[in-house]
Amino acid sequence: MDLVKIRNLSFKELSEHMLAAGYPKFRANQIFAWQNQKLVQSFNDMTNLPKELIAYLNKNFILQTLTIQKKLTSEDGNTTKLLYKLSDNNLIESVIMRYNYGYSVCVSTQVGCKMGCKFCASGADGFIRNLEPAEILEQVIIAQKLVKQRIGHVVLMGIGEPLDNFDNVVKFISLVTNKDGLNISGRNISISTSGLVDKIYKLAELDLSCTLSVSLHAPNNELRSKLMPINNKWNLEELMQACRFYFKKTGRRISFEYIMINKLNDTIEQSYDLAELIKGYPTHVNLIPINSGKQTDFKPSTAKDIKAFKCNLEQLGVNVTVRRTLGADINAACGQLKKKEIRR
Ligand code: SAH
Ligand code: SF4
Repeated sequence: MDLVKIRNLSFKELSEHMLAAGYPKFRANQIFAWQNQKLVQSFNDMTNLPKELIAYLNKNFILQTLTIQKKLTSEDGNTTKLLYKLSDNNLIESVIMRYNYGYSVCVSTQVGCKMGCKFCASGADGFIRNLEPAEILEQVIIAQKLVKQRIGHVVLMGIGEPLDNFDNVVKFISLVTNKDGLNISGRNISISTSGLVDKIYKLAELDLSCTLSVSLHAPNNELRSKLMPINNKWNLEELMQACRFYFKKTGRRISFEYIMINKLNDTIEQSYDLAELIKGYPTHVNLIPINSGKQTDFKPSTAKDIKAFKCNLEQLGVNVTVRRTLGADINAACGQLKKKEIRR
């Protein structure tokens, strides 16, 4: 029988388990604090627990589910990419980023991805499995241990489609925002999606106060369907309606990711179409020069084209930034390091 990953349990579930096993409830408080505040990775390090309880935990649970396989830091020291091995030997990635407002970690939510976007390394080898809440949470915990400072922000933008692993992602959010856990504010969590419309409605209803970040990448259905097969299931009109609903329900402005691909989606005309598509409510557009890996022939837009695209959006009243390319020297785009490791 597989051991239970203890970090999958909410505090309530852990307390119930401890009571049922005949331990006083305060033991659950102690264990939860070791897991989430002192961030230990072995039950043997929970030094205020009786030996017998430590033996019980070792027999029934696992605490550490990830091991660092590789760690790369960019030349400027602001970006660290981690390749992790899971307990079933699958590989995933996280990226730790240092900003002027603090540390942010970008976590993976699945091993592989089903969505098959043409520009993306994560989905290139298909889908293997969902990550469990503990496996997502541990990416934040290990990051915090490494930088020895509080991680204030989490973005679900690593490998995988978060909304395709809905229940585990929602459980992860409730664990990571727990006041007695890592206590990261829901407002500082961004969930990135390729546009699973049914799940956007479901997420809006939960009102977790997270930012919804939608990977748009094209201002019309024809081009978007070529780049992102999900657009054949839910087109841009349906996606935009869901985004407006998310804003209405949560009051959180929607963030749109737009990768800039040379001569494909970066013309001035397309910037007009983009502005038209998202007009009328609070949004933010993040332009990202595509990180071209071996898996695609797409080239990033030129600096001149990006500037012109951005300026035109600004003139049309769109809130827009160009994302600084984080750690291109360390294959920081999602899935690229894993892909390289597998090729090796
Ligand atoms: N599946 C989710 C979240 C993970 S992908 C989603 O698609 O939103 C995180 C972001 O990286 C997405 O915006 C995705 O479009 C983008 N991305 C994928 N491949 C990229 C590449 N080669 N260069 C730049 N961004 C890329
Ligand atoms: Fe999956 Fe996102 Fe990559 Fe598309 S961009 S294949 S949804 S991880």
